[in-house]
Amino acid sequence: MTVTWEESGWEQVAPGVGRCRLPVWDCTAGLVVGTDAVLLVDAGSSLAEGARLRAEAQELTGRRVTHLALTHLHFDHVLGAAAFAGAEVFGAVGTDTALAGRGREELRADAVRHGLDARAAEEAVDALVRPRHTVCGERTLDLDLGGGRQVLLANVGPGHTAHDLAVLVPGDPEVVFCGDLVEESGEPQAGPDAVPSHWPAALDRLLELGGEDARYVPGHGAVVDAAFVRAQRDALAARFGVSR
Ligand SMILES: [Zn+2]
Repeated sequence: MTVTWEESGWEQVAPGVGRCRLPVWDCTAGLVVGTDAVLLVDAGSSLAEGARLRAEAQELTGRRVTHLALTHLHFDHVLGAAAFAGAEVFGAVGTDTALAGRGREELRADAVRHGLDARAAEEAVDALVRPRHTVCGERTLDLDLGGGRQVLLANVGPGHTAHDLAVLVPGDPEVVFCGDLVEESGEPQAGPDAVPSHWPAALDRLLELGGEDARYVPGHGAVVDAAFVRAQRDALAARFGVSR
């Protein structure tokens, strides 16, 4: 690495795994560094923010981002994606068709409603490409050509949205990037596109993936443990009237 995680304002979550909390909406972006490949988890809220993430990832790893995983189609997580030309883009199955239809206009309108500059929103939505690789069930990504670091992309939703993707990074400790299925800095946000009846089950799947000792990285807020995720699962089940 050319600079340390700390020097670049990122938080190291495990060896070769980091995250940063972006300004304004406190959205998380994650980075997983393999020998030959670099995976970014979520791309920020605008082309400018995506470009910033691209530069920081390059500074941290000395390489280009080769893979981009989008946890869900909310503007603060995806509108920077077009800054990563050449990266292989992954999303939960359904994200590609959502972006072919009304999803694109909904993304733009939602971004403006949350305070993103109208021009920046339009520019980013226009440039946004549909994920080329959609994940139904689970998919392994080999980030070391020749073996070694493998990452699991898991379609654990629906829940926070109709298309929620989590990223499990094996290691010591294991790391689970949860997207907005888990939030630490406030109540989990359930918008009109949430699927509340399935949300607690999605958190059960996250807990099955990561187990007791993993570090769980929420879409917003500080890194949490399994007990926090379990408590949030129970709170969501009570909030939405979902029984076990
Ligand atoms: Zn969200």
